[in-house]
Amino acid sequence: MHDFDTDGHRARKRFGQNFLSDPNIIRKIIDGIRPQPGELMVEIGPGLGAMTDPLIERLGHLHVVEIDRDLIARLHERYTAEQLTVHEGDALKFDFGSLCGGQGADDKPSLRIVGNLPYNISTPILFHLAGFADQVKDMTFMLQKEVVMRMVAEPGTEEYGRLSVMLQYRFRMGRLFDVPPGAFRPAPKVMSSIVRMAPLPAEQLGAHDEALLGRIVAAAFGQRRKTLRNTLREFIDDAGLQALGIDPGLRGEKLSVEQYVAIANECVRREA
Ligand code: SAM
Repeated sequence: MHDFDTDGHRARKRFGQNFLSDPNIIRKIIDGIRPQPGELMVEIGPGLGAMTDPLIERLGHLHVVEIDRDLIARLHERYTAEQLTVHEGDALKFDFGSLCGGQGADDKPSLRIVGNLPYNISTPILFHLAGFADQVKDMTFMLQKEVVMRMVAEPGTEEYGRLSVMLQYRFRMGRLFDVPPGAFRPAPKVMSSIVRMAPLPAEQLGAHDEALLGRIVAAAFGQRRKTLRNTLREFIDDAGLQALGIDPGLRGEKLSVEQYVAIANECVRREA
């Protein structure tokens, strides 16, 4: 389980612990986030505090969600309750909406989420966080570069898949810069990237049934080699696809986010 000693803490592989140690990279990430005094922000996996320190310095107060009890004990020793609210537990189960308690229906979403995410749970955590898009102003994460490339991928490319469609449906996304393994202790095996995600306004989304959209996209990419005619058979027939100007002989990776939304809405219309 333990494979490296960092500041007296043995980094735990099962919690995806690679601690940022390059001060220039840390500064660049914080500059990219641009924290403003008094903003409502939560950091996922503060670890040994590489980003926590400069974030608290700029914000005054920060929320964190951390799973490792040893690291939680250190956080309590290091920061006061005025500076830091520690939420102990699994970010995959954490209700991020609960942090926006007093927010009324007409208020602009104000929650900002940041983190150098544990790479072993990157895809499930992104899907979990997407569920809070309504309450979020923006999110800035470090992830392995390969995942970020899938998040921002364009239709027709090898990286384009379910993650690309479902996140691009809900967020405007941008890759900020790459971070080499040497910026961490212990060094991960792969390159990392910083990605920014800003929820799109509700009126731009367009799917009448988002759960159905999710099922259609999952089916279309479930068997990447098969054509839409086969993968979407239970949702829509050839004529339905053709009516939308979509060739049933294509594979799922060729369709844009808008085309997936059009298919889902056509299915809703036909059921009505
Ligand atoms: N932010 C620190 C840094 O940049 O040096 C640590 C980043 S490290 C890649 C990931 C952090 O997420 C660790 O502190 C780890 O304990 C924590 N973590 C791992 N799985 C978690 C989970 N399911 N929920 C909350 N925190 C988790």
